[in-house]
Amino acid sequence: MANSRFAYVRSFELPDPLLPSTYMVCRIDGRSFHRFTDAHVFEKPNDERGLRLMDKAAEGVMHELRDVVLAFGESDEFSFLLRKDSTLYSRRQSKILSAILSIFTSSYVFHWPTFFPSTPLQYPPSFDARIVLYPSEKEVRDYFAWRQADTHINNLYNTVFWALVLKGGLDTAGAHAELRGTVSAQKHEILHSRFGVNYNNLPERYRKGSILVRKPPEPAPVVHSMTAPRPPLHPSASAPAEVVSPLPDAAWSSPSAASTSYPSPLPSAEPFALPVVFSSPNTTAPSASEFAEVEPRKEGKEKKARRQPPPWDGTSGDVEVLHVDIIRDEFWEERPWLLR
Ligand SMILES: [Mg+2]
Repeated sequence: MANSRFAYVRSFELPDPLLPSTYMVCRIDGRSFHRFTDAHVFEKPNDERGLRLMDKAAEGVMHELRDVVLAFGESDEFSFLLRKDSTLYSRRQSKILSAILSIFTSSYVFHWPTFFPSTPLQYPPSFDARIVLYPSEKEVRDYFAWRQADTHINNLYNTVFWALVLKGGLDTAGAHAELRGTVSAQKHEILHSRFGVNYNNLPERYRKGSILVRKPPEPAPVVHSMTAPRPPLHPSASAPAEVVSPLPDAAWSSPSAASTSYPSPLPSAEPFALPVVFSSPNTTAPSASEFAEVEPRKEGKEKKARRQPPPWDGTSGDVEVLHVDIIRDEFWEERPWLLR
């Protein structure tokens, strides 16, 4: 930046670093979305297209900002979790917040025609945002539990409310009055007895919101035979492509599935191709002595081959959209990298 006599104004820019070693959660929220959804004739109580568009915009954020490892969305809001040790924009609050907000908003507008092909945008939608820091795993888990509980409470209310209006013939004031003071069980009962709706059968997207995480890499099973060139002691992604079989999605989380053998892609006509299949990293690799007669291994190379890559940190790979329980332990236990 060139120096001029005006450059002193730069000293007015104050640093706004976020505390190190804390989890950052950025929540964006639609501005005046009652008006926006009315203007664009969203379906009540849930508009599948609108919710999918929100998911798509959140995916855009995760695609651009790798340190965002988890996103949770409901209605017109989305929350993004950044890694505790993230150094994104040197942890400058205004940079992180404005980047997430603008990527989300521009993605929402960019993908609008895909989800609403016959509804032109009437005016530019906008969102506001905030970043909150959380010191430990407990608060992060409670934060996302809070948002999912909110999803459930709001969706149950809205589902009964719009049933009373659209099917029950009440006006909005009458529906609010009918629901005033009712507890969850009474709302379920109204839905069931008056409208024949079992709330628990409604789509999980509506009841649980959307959770975006990246898929962990699948362990790569390596097939080798005693006649083939010796594989590394710890098979890795560097194994030749033609001897790697894909594992099903479930394999990464299930030790039993991860050790399942898959058919060898090698031509069955090969006389001495006795395939040995093992998976990395859960399966015990063959010891060096098993290969001793093929080629003695030098100590230095052995050490190099045994070097393990760092654990996967959730910042690479494809994003998947889930509609599952984020309150119970299972979600977090299956994804330990989220709170690392
Ligand atoms: Mg809002």
